[in-house]
Amino acid sequence: MSRYFRVDEELAPGVEIALEPQRFERVLRVRVGDHLTLCGPSGRLFEVEVITARPPTARVVAAGHEPDRNPRRSLEVWVPMLKGGRTDDLVRQLTELGATRIVPFSSSHAVVRLEASKVDERRRRFAQIAEEAGNQCGRTLLPEVSAPIDGLPSVGGGLFLWEGFAESGGTTLREALADDELTSRILVGPEGGLSQSEVAHLISLGWTGVGLGPRILRAETAVIMLATLALERRGEFETRR
Ligand code: SAH
Repeated sequence: MSRYFRVDEELAPGVEIALEPQRFERVLRVRVGDHLTLCGPSGRLFEVEVITARPPTARVVAAGHEPDRNPRRSLEVWVPMLKGGRTDDLVRQLTELGATRIVPFSSSHAVVRLEASKVDERRRRFAQIAEEAGNQCGRTLLPEVSAPIDGLPSVGGGLFLWEGFAESGGTTLREALADDELTSRILVGPEGGLSQSEVAHLISLGWTGVGLGPRILRAETAVIMLATLALERRGEFETRR
């Protein structure tokens, strides 16, 4: 389902634009006088009227009136590269939930490590998945999905989950979630977990690690859980007027 079509050109009333069939097939069936909704790079929607059908071109007639479904605040999520398309699923779900930046990464115990030649291809696939998820849930501004990174963040702070803290000590999840800054950047380890030295590295950068109690969750469960909690604390699920 797509309510609108994304274009790269800046739109404004009066602007004329070529509708590229390679971007959206429906333009092959448009007729002169049809109205469509386009989404420009700024995330704003505009209503256009088709002015020629072969080749298809349109003129922007007015700004569109869709409710704003974009995230209100920023959330950066470091997502482990997982086997079997599970990272794809996480990109889709995080787009729906309201993440604004997604950084796929492989750390030392990662099961999946991309060859350098595949990095760009994977980034494009993630971008396409985010676009489809954005269209589906009505987000006009998509999360920025970075190319998969080999390694951990080099800046802090943020909140990460470590199973080594699962049963004792340190900051609790509840305390961490009360800290607005911590809930703006989050990280979950891969299937193989984070190593002691990676945990020390994150802490030295100012990250705060917490445990989730005695049950060890699969990485993808942990990502969705932590992202949901952080977004809730940031008010993302409030009804908007
Ligand atoms: N291989 C590890 C488990 C990794 S679980 C082991 O067998 O011990 C994948 C990631 O999910 C972890 O790196 C951590 O970030 C998060 N996670 C899962 N369960 C957790 C828990 N109980 N406490 C904290 N983090 C958890």
